[in-house]
Amino acid sequence: MMESRVSTSPETIIAPGSTIGVLGGGQLGRMMALAGSNLGYRFLTLDPMPDGPCGQIAEQIIANYDDKDAARQLAAKADVITYEFENVDAEVAAMLMAESHVPQGSELLYTTQHRLREKRAIEAAGVRVAPYAEITSEKDLRTAVERFGLPCVLKTATGGYDGKGQWVIRSMDEIPEAYATLAAAKTELVLEQFIRFTKELSVIAARSPRGEVKAFPVAENIHVNNILHLSIVPARVSFDVQDQAEALAIRIAESMNVVGLIAVELFLTEDGELFVNELAPRPHNSGHYTMEACRTSQFEQHVRAICNLPLGDTMLLTPVVMVNVLGEHVEPLLAHMAQEDEAAVAFNVAPKVHLYGKKEAKEKRKMGHVNVLTDHLDDALAWIDKTQIWRNQ
Ligand code: AMP
Repeated sequence: MMESRVSTSPETIIAPGSTIGVLGGGQLGRMMALAGSNLGYRFLTLDPMPDGPCGQIAEQIIANYDDKDAARQLAAKADVITYEFENVDAEVAAMLMAESHVPQGSELLYTTQHRLREKRAIEAAGVRVAPYAEITSEKDLRTAVERFGLPCVLKTATGGYDGKGQWVIRSMDEIPEAYATLAAAKTELVLEQFIRFTKELSVIAARSPRGEVKAFPVAENIHVNNILHLSIVPARVSFDVQDQAEALAIRIAESMNVVGLIAVELFLTEDGELFVNELAPRPHNSGHYTMEACRTSQFEQHVRAICNLPLGDTMLLTPVVMVNVLGEHVEPLLAHMAQEDEAAVAFNVAPKVHLYGKKEAKEKRKMGHVNVLTDHLDDALAWIDKTQIWRNQ
């Protein structure tokens, strides 16, 4: 039998020099490894694609995410294991828990993999979510739509991302088709009241096994075609809303015994009310701005949290706009980078480019991002506009 290396005590510290195993080898793993390498950690990623974003800068086990032998190899070689996506196979998670040190545990994954479980956990933390109902039949759906009023949003409980697995129901006539389409996914369904939000916000909080909790400044997020386009920080909302958003993220992190990062996506209504949309137990696209704009980045914070080091200061150093680089933006961005950036001089901004090393620039695929550091948010937005890189947004 394999020697058990389980150690979940709050005193366990994973010291620099140790190896961090990362399930998943995309950009989040890459940026985690870049930040963690600066602290002296080694990285080993498990991902089926050779030479991917994380594999380019870390050691790699090339295998599928649900390959138990490969996961066992990861467990044997790593001193601590983390993940960069939440859809970790339940059996793999259980095996890793038994054979290695997974400070984040599997419960948080279990909760956040399922919208209904997630909503119940958020409510248990005393935080509001949009009114919702579990839907198990077309009849349930009809009753719930009558209760919430139109429009409302039908979602699959598992597997949805970037707006996939959702149907905004705008008339009673759509009910049969909406139900049939989403029920085909063979997962439970949830109906949510449509929140007429004025802004979408997010807060990322970190918690360590020793119980320290810190939140990053609130980001204001703008999506295009359901994909994050901009994160604007400071969010253009009152200090009161910012404080409330940070406080509720901390409450969620504490109530759910989070270790590592938890990203909290929020809707802000005209009346100043905040509702949680969803959670992600990992670094989040809306936290990429922290890389240059905060004293500690979300990636360093995640490494600190899972290794049980003291958390870093999350203070914002400068206003910033993060703009995502999708496949269609790569060519114009590269052309822009080859020239003197006169727009940056004119607007007095510092655009910091991050590219993830992905080979194929498919349309809508996240290829990188730019953190535009600025004294005035309007100048960063003007630079984004002036470059014409995002002209088709
Ligand atoms: P999600 O996959 O849950 O993050 O949803 C994707 C996007 O759909 C969100 O960013 C919102 O713009 C919109 N959306 C989702 N749920 C609701 C809701 N209950 N009310 C209004 N808009 C929503």
